[in-house]
Amino acid sequence: MSLPNLPESFASDIAQERSLVTAIPGPKSDALMKRRTEAVARGVGTTLPVFIERAGGAILVDVDGNQLIDLGSGIAVTSVGNANAEVVKKVQDQVALFTHTCFMVTPYAGYVEVCEALNRLTPGEHHKRSALFNSGAEAVENAVKIARAYTKRQAVVVVEHAYHGRTNLTMAMTAKDMPYKHGFGPFASDIYRVPTSYPLHDGLSGDEAARQAITKIVKEVGADQVAAVVIEPIQGEGGFIVPAAGFLPALSSFCTENGIVFIADEIQTGFARTGAWFACDHEGVIPDVITTAKGIAGGLPLAAVTGRAEIMDAAHVGGLGGTYGGNPVACAAAIGSIQAMESGNLVTRAAAIEQVMRARLEQIQAKVPAIADIRGRGAMIAVEIVKPGTLEPDDALTAAVAKACHGQGVVVLTAGTYSNVLRFLPPLVISEELLNEALDIIDAAFVDLS
Ligand SMILES: *Cc1c(COP(=O)(O)O)cnc(C)c1O
Repeated sequence: MSLPNLPESFASDIAQERSLVTAIPGPKSDALMKRRTEAVARGVGTTLPVFIERAGGAILVDVDGNQLIDLGSGIAVTSVGNANAEVVKKVQDQVALFTHTCFMVTPYAGYVEVCEALNRLTPGEHHKRSALFNSGAEAVENAVKIARAYTKRQAVVVVEHAYHGRTNLTMAMTAKDMPYKHGFGPFASDIYRVPTSYPLHDGLSGDEAARQAITKIVKEVGADQVAAVVIEPIQGEGGFIVPAAGFLPALSSFCTENGIVFIADEIQTGFARTGAWFACDHEGVIPDVITTAKGIAGGLPLAAVTGRAEIMDAAHVGGLGGTYGGNPVACAAAIGSIQAMESGNLVTRAAAIEQVMRARLEQIQAKVPAIADIRGRGAMIAVEIVKPGTLEPDDALTAAVAKACHGQGVVVLTAGTYSNVLRFLPPLVISEELLNEALDIIDAAFVDLS
């Protein structure tokens, strides 16, 4: 098992090595954390109270000089590696030329170039158009606006365990109360939640799970009332839930038959992350509209809605946009990032990362009965953690393993409606040595704690 080599241009000037020179967090991070507590609103959480000074590839360097292995990529964002050379160069060139005009006032080529790339790379050969925004939630909001304008219907269907963002409409679309929604209502109306496909827990085939969801839509919402079904092809915050084969195609066909816009939220799964350009590609599903963000621009804030030209053009002139949407510096970063994905063959590399991770995680699972499931695709892999012999979530063990990894300088994230999923989102450029070292630490944490 070995990961394909990367071109020279991917080399980082930060040594790709873990190195701990203080406790985690160290004294400088502790001091900054005190200032943070005083200055920053409490509602903005912290996974790991370590302040970062520099980063490169899959290594984060903190203010105390510790080098941490990044298995989170800032939540699936820095897929091409942190401070990727092609991204840095494009950003530096652009920022020196001009920083902003507002694309709706006086346009620039970078925005068009990103839309052309999106239209080319997203699933399906049909005629597409794109529009750019600042955040994932904003892309989802706009996808819903467009679907409503196109269908002249209002209902929006989402699924159990969904995550679509933190704005008012997207909070309504997100499933989990704490921390995303709690106390923040009232929420937007006309959002309907139906069961998803969750093989570990429902034991259903893709067809059976789709039938269950479709029956609920037909009987409780009315197929001809629905503007859009919005779904993550692999659920991200919900716990990397991969639906049973056939579920997504069946749901997509139902939408086509009923004039419903099928919107794939690929904000976490998109841009090579799952070992395909987009997760829909694994099942040959062609969404009418797709939302993207996270991995698109190497860390700069950018999001997009891409879809069938006739659907995208249903919104009237001036109906879409925003001051910063498709900022020229963010567009330059996206162009650099997409080039890096192509030149580094990162789609293939993501698939190879899955092979390495699965083999190691299966060895850990053989020793640790608390691991009920290993799932995901490409470099989007998670384990679900339960009380052994049951499917009862063990969020305490999950948090303890994550904390132990953090203490050893490995950044891992948790997820899941029951907070019992440990998820891994390494940069697609991570070296095999670093990946294996991180897996050694994860292995030891599980063995020690379970
Ligand atoms: C992160 C995420 C969002 C929200 O994106 P933001 O940029 O945080 O607003 C929406 N959908 C999915 C699937 C996500 O993973």
